[in-house]
Amino acid sequence: MKRWKPKIIKWGVVLLPLFTVVFVLKIFLPMISKQVRTSQFGNDKSICETTHFYTLTKKIPESPKDVAISCENFYSAFVEEHKSQIAFKELENKIEVFFFGNRKEFDEYYKKQYMRSIPHNAAFYSPLQQRIVLYWNNNTRETLYHELTHMILDIAVNFHEPQFSVWFNEGLAMYFEKYTVQNGALIVGDLDKDAVLFVRQAYKNRLFVPLTALCQSQSADFRSSQNSIYYYESYLFIYFLKHVKGNDIFLRYFKEEGKSGPCSPYALSNILQKPNVEIEKEFLAYFKIN
Ligand SMILES: [Zn+2]
Repeated sequence: MKRWKPKIIKWGVVLLPLFTVVFVLKIFLPMISKQVRTSQFGNDKSICETTHFYTLTKKIPESPKDVAISCENFYSAFVEEHKSQIAFKELENKIEVFFFGNRKEFDEYYKKQYMRSIPHNAAFYSPLQQRIVLYWNNNTRETLYHELTHMILDIAVNFHEPQFSVWFNEGLAMYFEKYTVQNGALIVGDLDKDAVLFVRQAYKNRLFVPLTALCQSQSADFRSSQNSIYYYESYLFIYFLKHVKGNDIFLRYFKEEGKSGPCSPYALSNILQKPNVEIEKEFLAYFKIN
């Protein structure tokens, strides 16, 4: 027994400082890293922290608390509405929301972070940083709800992973950005008539993206100067699935998207038991596009 004593003391000498270092790092590292991360937002910022969000705003007409409350309300209403269909996880980290006052600062931030620009997009969600970045614009509420939808679905069902089609991800975000929150419940938005008009015009100008091509579209299509047609069509296809084909079909397709490996561009065709061109014809007729 005696022999063990010096060994215990020896290990104690090594492990005790190690545990102390790990303990100190565990406490202070998140604080330091949060400061480093949020310093990317620059100076003159106002900050608010709520249960799930950490909002930083700069010269916008709303306080960071107003923004955080909007985020919390949308988040809890979304979870409440969909919890019977989606297994939501508790958020491990607070979601950061960087809200710039104008396009210029948003652009500068994006360029600094990603070494390129996104001149045709007004906001983005980074799954890696779990951060929403946007700037104050005419459709601020919609833009915020759009990115929150990306964030919620990403954390709930890993929407950033490649098996989920880009059109489906963007179409859902476009669909849910039209929602409003009233007394803690999500209220469905009306059909966006501008989207219908836009797609009608695009069809006339031979810019309509066929369903099979839309299902195969990539994120670059949604960043390009021609991105509006991709966004509007994706939105209208989600609307068509939910309101015309019904929620059961929509949920079957949702499940199909979630299976491992990229989703087949013919998945919808398999579910509806008709070729994509037929589905497309129905879609065009429903919105009186052709
Ligand atoms: Zn989006």
